[in-house]
Amino acid sequence: MALSGLQIQKLLPKTNCKECGSNTCLAFAMKLAAKKASLAECPYASDEAKQILGADSEPPVKTVEIGDAKIGGETVLYRHEKTFVNQTILAVNIDDTDPDALKTIEAVRDYVLVRVGETLTVGAIAVTQKGADDQAFAELAGKAAHVSGKPVIISAANSAAAEAAAGQVKDTHSVLAGVTERNAPEMLGIAQSCGLSMALSGKTIDEVVSLAQKLKEEGFTNVLMDFGAQSPAERFQINTIARRAALKGGNKALGYPTLSFIGSGDTMQDTMLAVQEIDKYGGIAVLPSFDPAQLVALMTLRQNIYTDPQKPIQVEPKVYTIGEPDENSPVFATTNFSLTYFIVSGEIENAGISAWLVIPDCEGFSVLTAWAAGKFSGAVIAKAVKEYGLEAYVKTRQITIPGYVAQISGELEENLPGWKVLVGPQEASDLESYIKSVLQA
Ligand code: SF4
Repeated sequence: MALSGLQIQKLLPKTNCKECGSNTCLAFAMKLAAKKASLAECPYASDEAKQILGADSEPPVKTVEIGDAKIGGETVLYRHEKTFVNQTILAVNIDDTDPDALKTIEAVRDYVLVRVGETLTVGAIAVTQKGADDQAFAELAGKAAHVSGKPVIISAANSAAAEAAAGQVKDTHSVLAGVTERNAPEMLGIAQSCGLSMALSGKTIDEVVSLAQKLKEEGFTNVLMDFGAQSPAERFQINTIARRAALKGGNKALGYPTLSFIGSGDTMQDTMLAVQEIDKYGGIAVLPSFDPAQLVALMTLRQNIYTDPQKPIQVEPKVYTIGEPDENSPVFATTNFSLTYFIVSGEIENAGISAWLVIPDCEGFSVLTAWAAGKFSGAVIAKAVKEYGLEAYVKTRQITIPGYVAQISGELEENLPGWKVLVGPQEASDLESYIKSVLQA
C-alpha cells in the first residue's frame, strides 16, 4: 500500500536541511508520496527509509538533469489531471562539416523569446559527427558547450570521438547519444567519468528497454530512450505506449524520458513532428537546424502545454505605468492574468500614450472568468485603486474597464465616489481606436 506524506516524513531525518531542494522534510515527503521526487535526493536518508520506500518512492518516469533543466519526472498522462512539470527541451543540431557551425552556436546562445513575462530559450545543442576528424568534432562539441553555455548532445561516429567530445563537456549535464548494445560498455565508462546521461538506441524498442535494464543493474539510470526515426504515426504511438506503460502499468523499464532527432527534410513536417514531441511526452526534441520562425511557434505551444492548469500565469497585482504617465494620464483596469496584462499594456503602448494600469488580484483569471468568479468586480477594482494609493498620483477621476464587464460600471462608481467609469472595448485590439475616438476626442 502506498504510504502517505506524513508516514514517509516519519522515515526522514526531520532536520529540514533543505539539501533535497525542499524547505522541509515534510515538503519532501509530500513530493515523494506524489512520486514527484526520488529518495536519492535526500543524502541523509537512512537504510531503513531506503528499505521501506525503495523503488516505490521513485517517480514512474525517471527525472534526468540536462544542463540546468530537468526532463521526465512526470506523474500524469494528461495535463489537465494535474500538470506536466518538466517541459520538452528543444535542441538545435549542428554538424562538424558545416562551416557556419560556430555562427549557429552563437545564434542559439543569443536566441531569446519573451512571452507573457517568461524568457524562453533553446535548451541544448546537438553536435553530430559527419566528418572523419574526431578531434575537430570534439572541439566543436566543446565550443557548443562553452560558447552557448548550454548542454550538448554528443552524437559521435565512434567511441574515440565520443570520449574526446565528452571530455570537452565534462560536468555540464550533457548527453551521450547513440548508445547501443554493442558500444554500451565503453560508453558507460565515458558517461560515468564525465557526468553525462546516455541516450539509448536499438533496432527495436525491446532492444532499447533491455539495454536500459542492464544499465540499471549496473547502477546507471541517467538514461534517455531514443526510439529512432519512424513515421509520425509510429512515433506518436511509441511515445504514448511507453508513457502509458510507465504511468499506468507500473512498467519501470519504460519509465525514462525520450530523445528524438527530427529531420525529415521538410520544414513543415519537422515542425509537426516537434509539435508531436511537445504534445506527447517528448523529453528532448532535436531540430535539424536553427530556424527562429519555427522556434517561436514551438516555444509558444510548449509554454501553453507546460503551464500549470491550476495556476494561471499571473503578474503581480499593482498599478503599472505605461510610458511616463502624469497626473492627467488616463487610467485603465484589467485582471492579473499574464496574457491579458501583456496584451492590454501592449495595445495601450501601441496607441502611443502614457497611462496607469490598475491590476487587482484576480488570482490570474482572465476578465470574464474573474468576473464570473466574483474576483473582478466593482468593489475589487475600487479597493485596488484605494489600496495602491492611485488617487495621490492622478488628478483625473476617470477609469476605463473592459467592455466585457460593462455591467460592473455602476458598482464601481458606487465604490469609487467622485470617479467616472468608462466602458472600453471588449477586445484589447480595439483599444487603440477607443483611445483615439473616446479619450483623445
Ligand atoms: Fe529533510 Fe533530507 Fe530534505 Fe534534508 S535533504 S530537508 S533531511 S528530506
